[in-house]
Amino acid sequence: MTTVLKFGGSSVATIEQIQAISEYLQTRAAAGEKLVVVVSAMGKTTDSLLSLAKQITERPMIRELDRLLAVGEEQTISLLSIALNSRGVAAISLTGQQAGIDTMGIHTKSKIKAIRKEVLEEKLRTYDVVIVAGFQGVNEFGDVTTLGRGGSDTTAVALAAVLSKRCEIYTDVAGVYTADPRIHPTARRLDTVSYDEMMEMSALGSKVMEMRSVELAKKFDVNIFVGKTLASEGGTWIMDMTQAMEQKAVTSVSVVKNVLSVSIKHIPHSVAGVADIFEKLSQRHVNIDMISQTAFDGEVFLSFTCPLDEEAFLEEALAELTETFPQIKIDRHTEHAKISVVGIGMRDATGVAAELFATFRESGIPFYQVTTSEISISYTINEQDVEAAVAAIATRFKL
Ligand code: ASP
Ligand code: MG
Repeated sequence: MTTVLKFGGSSVATIEQIQAISEYLQTRAAAGEKLVVVVSAMGKTTDSLLSLAKQITERPMIRELDRLLAVGEEQTISLLSIALNSRGVAAISLTGQQAGIDTMGIHTKSKIKAIRKEVLEEKLRTYDVVIVAGFQGVNEFGDVTTLGRGGSDTTAVALAAVLSKRCEIYTDVAGVYTADPRIHPTARRLDTVSYDEMMEMSALGSKVMEMRSVELAKKFDVNIFVGKTLASEGGTWIMDMTQAMEQKAVTSVSVVKNVLSVSIKHIPHSVAGVADIFEKLSQRHVNIDMISQTAFDGEVFLSFTCPLDEEAFLEEALAELTETFPQIKIDRHTEHAKISVVGIGMRDATGVAAELFATFRESGIPFYQVTTSEISISYTINEQDVEAAVAAIATRFKL
């Protein structure tokens, strides 16, 4: 039986951790399993590599940046393989390219196009543990590309999709929780969560799994187990739950901090005007979220949010906008957070929004923008209210 496992960067940050993982893998291999192990870069290595390039230029060439960032995972695969081999385990490390991972699309955000699984199958005949560098592959020009930050999860799920339909992701938290335990210490671990909920949670601020990897898992029916590295208990299964008997309306609450809210008043009511605004923002790659607009008396009122670290680009775009529409008035709020409740049961349950508004009323916490999707409702609130809001929602919905 082949098992795909992945260890995240915080689990392989030191040689001691790598040694401990090699010991664990040795026991699993000794029990007869064939293991494909995906690893991330050690600790904050990817950030350090990125900052080296940024010391030269703010906009490094993306082809070279990919070559550089891929080095992080290559360090980990070799060290883990050295550790395993020194224990007498038949192990081999492979880069994404060596493992037959073909990518497409732009550098730093490429996608996996195909996996030539014969390569891995062949290695598994000779070795008990095949270690694969996460987050990387090779494109049609033979260049190394990376899959976007957090992309090792995607590598692991993609390998599981072709090899075993099951994937174990080990990280520094014991699974998926009803709320971030650092914000809300009494949050509960979920035993199971559906793909759709997990995708929504990842999109809305949960850091446990990278969103694209969950999308991929749903598409290829890969069950994911997320657990704490080297812990013998706990964990959450991410799987198809359309069969579940009973679904709670609300499963979890997620938070994104460092949100910048922008409201623009007195925009002349024309489709071209609003399109122009978003064009200016997108030219500068400002990542817009939570858009809402209302038209009234020939004028448009527009609000949206974006990550605070994109403020400089946003300001450039807003300055240009003021030149085009001198009459507009812009209001910004830099200390906002976005709080979202997620639950697949919202598809059928009614009254969740009413209960949430009541929760805000009773706790006296002010909110600003509100947006919804089929299985979530999000609010912007003042960052200082995050803990109180999470606690109020967790109490109300018994999370
Ligand atoms: N090392 C890469 C990153 O830090 C990929 C990963 O950890 O999943 O984003
Ligand atoms: Mg990671």
